[in-house]
Amino acid sequence: MTRCIFVMASLMSCIDAMLPGSPQHTRRALGKWGGLLLLAVLTVGCGSNPAIVGSPADAKPHPAVLTQVSTLDALMGGVYDGETTLAQLKQYGNLGLGTFNTLDGEMVVVDGHVYQARADGKVNEPPDSTQTPFAAVTFFQAGKTRPAATGLDFARLQQTLDSQLPSKNLFYAFRLEGRFQSIKVRSVPRQSRPYPILPDVVKKQAVFDLENVEGVLVGFRSPAFAKGLNAPGYHLHFLSKDKQAGGHVLDFVTDKVEVATQPIHDFRMLLPQDQDFYTATLPFDPSGDMARQVETKPLASPAGKN
Ligand SMILES: [Zn+2]
Repeated sequence: MTRCIFVMASLMSCIDAMLPGSPQHTRRALGKWGGLLLLAVLTVGCGSNPAIVGSPADAKPHPAVLTQVSTLDALMGGVYDGETTLAQLKQYGNLGLGTFNTLDGEMVVVDGHVYQARADGKVNEPPDSTQTPFAAVTFFQAGKTRPAATGLDFARLQQTLDSQLPSKNLFYAFRLEGRFQSIKVRSVPRQSRPYPILPDVVKKQAVFDLENVEGVLVGFRSPAFAKGLNAPGYHLHFLSKDKQAGGHVLDFVTDKVEVATQPIHDFRMLLPQDQDFYTATLPFDPSGDMARQVETKPLASPAGKN
C-alpha cells in the first residue's frame, strides 16, 4: 500500500510537472484523465497481479534498481543467446556489464553507452538491435567519491571496500575511475553451436595486460545469497579512457583512482523467453548433465544472429 501511495503522489506531481504553465481548464481536463489513469494504476498496481512491476516505464524513475537479464548459472551452462536488445537494456540502466549473443565478447556499460570488448582486443559500440543473453545494469548516481590508496591490487581493494560497506547483504554498484599502474582484463571468443559450457570457453579466453592506463571500472558486488543468479562478490568490467581496450577484470594495481559506490536494495530479473533458457538445468552443475543437454539441443534460433 505504501508503494501505491507513492505511485499516486508521483503521478500527481508528474501531471503538475508536465503542465507548469498550462491554462487552468487544461490542467483540470488532464487532471480528470490523470484521475482515470490513477484509478487504472490503483486497480492494476495495488492488486495481487505483480506483472506491472519490472516494466521499463516502471524501472526508470527508480535509480537504485539492479536489473539483470537471465542468470549467471544459465550463462555458465551455455545459454549464450537471448532476446533482450541493447535498446531495451538501456531502458534499465546506464552502468553495468554483461555479454552479447553467441558470447561475443565482454559488455561494458558506461554513461548509457554499451561497449563490446571482443577477444581480438578491439572495442566497438554495437547497434541497439544487438542482443544479450546476460547483463546487469543500473542507473548509477555518482554521489560522493573517495580516493583509493595507490598500489592496491584487486584483492586488497575488495578488502578495503568491504570494510566500508554498511552490510554485505545488499547489492552495490561501483564506478572506479582514474589511472591504473596496470590492469589485466580478459575477453571471450564468439561461440557457435553446439555451445560449450562457459568454464570450457574461459580456458581459451584472451588476456590483455595493460600498463599505466586511464579508464573506468564498472560493476557490482553481489551478496553471497545471490549465488547462481550472479557472481557473489565483486564483478567488474573495464573500459579505457580512449575506448580502445576493455574487458572482464582479472586484476589491477591502482595509481590514482576515485571510487563511487551505490547501495542497491531493489533487484529485478528479466528471465529470457526462449527454449534454451526454458530447458536449461538450473542451478548449473558442471559435473551434471546440463553440458550434454546444451551440446545435443536442436537449434532454437539461427547461430550468429548477433
Ligand atoms: Zn565479467
